[in-house]
Amino acid sequence: MKVALAGFNIEYELMQTLARNHRVALTPEPISAAYARISRSAKPVEELRQDARKELDKARKSNMTIVFEMGHHSIAEHAVFNFDVTGVSRLAVEALERHRLNSYMEKSQRYVALGDEFVVPEELKDTEVLDEFVATVKLQNRYYHELYPKLVAHFTAKHPEWKDEPIRAENAAKEDARYITGLAILTQLGMTANARNLELMLRSLTASGLAEVRALSRQLYEQTVAVAPSLLVFPQPTDYEKNTYARVRDYASTFMTPAFSRRPRNFIALAASDVALVDYTQNADNKLLAAILHTVSRASHAECLNRVERQTLARKKEIFKLACQDLQAYNAVLREFEHLSLTFELVISASGFAQLKRHRLMTLTAQPYDPKNGWTIPTSIAEIKEHKSFKEMLARTEDVFDHITTIAPAVAQYVLTNSHQRRVLMTVDARELYHISRLREDPAAQWDIRDIAGRMMEQARHVMPLTLALASGKDSYAKVYEELFGRPPAVRELKLPEARPLPATGEPAPSKKARPGKTDKREGGSPKQAVRSRKPGTGTPEPGTTNEEPQTKG
Ligand SMILES: Cc1cc2nc3c(=O)[nH]c(=O)nc-3n(C[C@H](O)[C@H](O)[C@H](O)COP(=O)(O)OP(=O)(O)OC[C@H]3O[C@@H](n4cnc5c(N)ncnc54)[C@H](O)[C@@H]3O)c2cc1C
Repeated sequence: MKVALAGFNIEYELMQTLARNHRVALTPEPISAAYARISRSAKPVEELRQDARKELDKARKSNMTIVFEMGHHSIAEHAVFNFDVTGVSRLAVEALERHRLNSYMEKSQRYVALGDEFVVPEELKDTEVLDEFVATVKLQNRYYHELYPKLVAHFTAKHPEWKDEPIRAENAAKEDARYITGLAILTQLGMTANARNLELMLRSLTASGLAEVRALSRQLYEQTVAVAPSLLVFPQPTDYEKNTYARVRDYASTFMTPAFSRRPRNFIALAASDVALVDYTQNADNKLLAAILHTVSRASHAECLNRVERQTLARKKEIFKLACQDLQAYNAVLREFEHLSLTFELVISASGFAQLKRHRLMTLTAQPYDPKNGWTIPTSIAEIKEHKSFKEMLARTEDVFDHITTIAPAVAQYVLTNSHQRRVLMTVDARELYHISRLREDPAAQWDIRDIAGRMMEQARHVMPLTLALASGKDSYAKVYEELFGRPPAVRELKLPEARPLPATGEPAPSKKARPGKTDKREGGSPKQAVRSRKPGTGTPEPGTTNEEPQTKG
């Protein structure tokens, strides 16, 4: 057996230096081209890659034929790009992060104090609402800065135990003050996407009703087409991408009644979101056990289900316990849990949505933000007696929203705030729900998403109690485990191994054969890579927290 490292991503700046020194073309296409030819060629793959690099034009033609004519689009997944996306609005980020097969990391408004910069939408330039828009966003920002010190004082007084860690009160204040800031505020993020997802994303972003999102799409394309032209061939939206929702929306408007306002109901935080389980797998607990028996036996699904249904509750619990006894807080539950699904309808704040959408193994569709849905106001705002001013700011914002809507409806969303809500439909399987519960029912999660997750789980546990018996935030896992098993889980606290240093030269570590005895350096990589490779259950702690993120779902 031989495993050869065929490529990995390094910073573009470093690549350019290498390209200057060694006069090589900077493109990931030879990797895709070589992998594309693996299925039809007897040559070793490293030879295929050398051929592709030597004859790049030929490799490009071959990529285009195989990916786009023959339809093997997965070839394009072997070319991967990292992007720094800066100076982009929160609203545009939502369009970007709708693409769930990419990886993202965003500046957190929980930990980073807000700057005052915001996007002035192209569509509003030269319109009568421009000044109103700019003035409103500036007022929101000013109010954020007024709220911040008041909230710091409030949290400091409320939590004397934070006396030696003033950062905790500051972070809590940032977390709540940002509810008055708008979706036009600028942020920055890191994104990793492969060429297949990128092309799909370009098509959808280019079809956007927002000029900013179309500009983002153009920049993503310009940056990448230069290095991988054979893999980014159809960046333009088709009629399907451009027209489908608009066509159905027009037709629906002929018979759908206008939505009524639900605003008066959600006055102060925590009761503000609506969370309703609207559909789920019936007979879920039995179906889960049947799926597990299906994997471990040779029986048909019908036979497995029939057998499970004839067992006593105690026996069913026994099967479940056997399947979960080695499960630790950082493990994903068995893949068989994915056979059970749940659909929730949520009405949640922009802040809650920003966090929810980051869970990628689910189907999340959403209506636009609309003040008629209402808003979420943090409890702390009422506690510092600012709720009246806060609501006045929201009312002013909504007047401007209504005004902009008459000119450019999609663009009006920019003026809305993190408090404003949207209605979303979310379908998730029981395995991903476990993951969401671990991260979002945990005290480290922000209160809004924790409230949403808690209410989802409450309803879900009702319809699949055995399946979700071990679902909880990371902090409560030992407790729920002990309730079921009568003993604590094997791992109460995760110990990280020592990070391994990179070889001093930064050169790839030599192979075992070439450098006997140098075992300490052979697994070169960044400290984080070393940690991941040795402890699959741990992930990178969230910025500003010491949490471990479970990263083990496969
Ligand atoms: C307390 C807290 C603070 C946070 N702070 C920030 C922040 O400051 N900035 C920020 O940007 N985000 C932040 N996040 C979001 C966080 O980084 C994750 O994006 C989010 O929680 C989704 O979880 P996930 O990526 O583990 O899994 P999901 O997307 O829910 O996927 C479930 C699992 O599937 C697997 N998986 C899915 N997609 C991939 C993939 N492409 N590659 C490999 N495995 C995959 C993983 O095992 C993953 O755990 C925070 C989250 C929490 C809970």
